[in-house]
Amino acid sequence: MVATIEETAENTVAVLDHGFVALDGALASDLAVVNAARVSFNARSEEMSERDEGLIRFLMRDRHGSPFEHGYFRFIVKAPIFVVREHHRHRAGHSYNEWSGRYSKLEAEYYVPDYVRTQVGKPGAYSFEPVEPEVREAAREELTAVAEQAFDAYERMLEQGVAKEVARMGLPLSLYTKYFWSCNPRSLMHFCSLRNSEQAQYEIREYARAAEAFLERLMPVTHAAFVAGGRVAP
Ligand SMILES: Cc1cc2nc3c(=O)[nH]c(=O)nc-3n(C[C@H](O)[C@H](O)[C@H](O)COP(=O)(O)OP(=O)(O)OC[C@H]3O[C@@H](n4cnc5c(N)ncnc54)[C@H](O)[C@@H]3O)c2cc1C
Repeated sequence: MVATIEETAENTVAVLDHGFVALDGALASDLAVVNAARVSFNARSEEMSERDEGLIRFLMRDRHGSPFEHGYFRFIVKAPIFVVREHHRHRAGHSYNEWSGRYSKLEAEYYVPDYVRTQVGKPGAYSFEPVEPEVREAAREELTAVAEQAFDAYERMLEQGVAKEVARMGLPLSLYTKYFWSCNPRSLMHFCSLRNSEQAQYEIREYARAAEAFLERLMPVTHAAFVAGGRVAP
């Protein structure tokens, strides 16, 4: 039998109640950034030096972005559909392949938020505050009931011979899906600058935070320069 995505994934960071970001493969290093820049002078470093670290900080500061494109991160992500809709808006330097609800039966797994909040202020400048405990419980119960009802209807339709691509139409945005996501360090930084940010919705921020931890692990000098520069992608 073919293994499911979870069973093959290593380097997995759990996100939300059932989601994750897993690093499935990577070819990413600070040295590759340095050497992409040093090729301008037909030169190459074999290992990182202080001078090379300074070069990365210069490239980040002056927004010489292309040397940061010669790396590769391949992630497997499990996320609710409303998060995926936000994520897949990121086009430049990102590739995606998603589990198909046309070809296989979807699983009854949906997100029920722990952090139930209310929004205060104007559009574009909302702040969010936790609701009272009884409102939180009631909201969680509502979201659970709606998802269960929708999934029961999905299964009933499948039993009656309705195509998966039709039966899925009533499923909620909270349903989890899985996808491959590949990007380069520059596009990952752009994603993190927008989504691992106070302005972004809490749930996608959790995914961006998990992905950024892999950037920090594999490219510590680049990541430090990104943070020091105000989290602006070069
Ligand atoms: C807090 C927040 C709120 C948002 N709210 C909404 C919303 O209400 N509605 C909504 O529809 N979206 C919303 N978005 C999505 C947002 O508009 C972008 O689609 C998303 O953040 C991807 O950003 P991007 O286009 O810079 O990234 P990418 O698609 O990865 O593009 C990266 C960069 O490449 C360049 N580029 C890419 N494509 C083009 C192009 N076609 N033409 C010119 N330059 C291009 C741009 O410089 C761009 O910044 C929101 C995003 C955030 C972070």
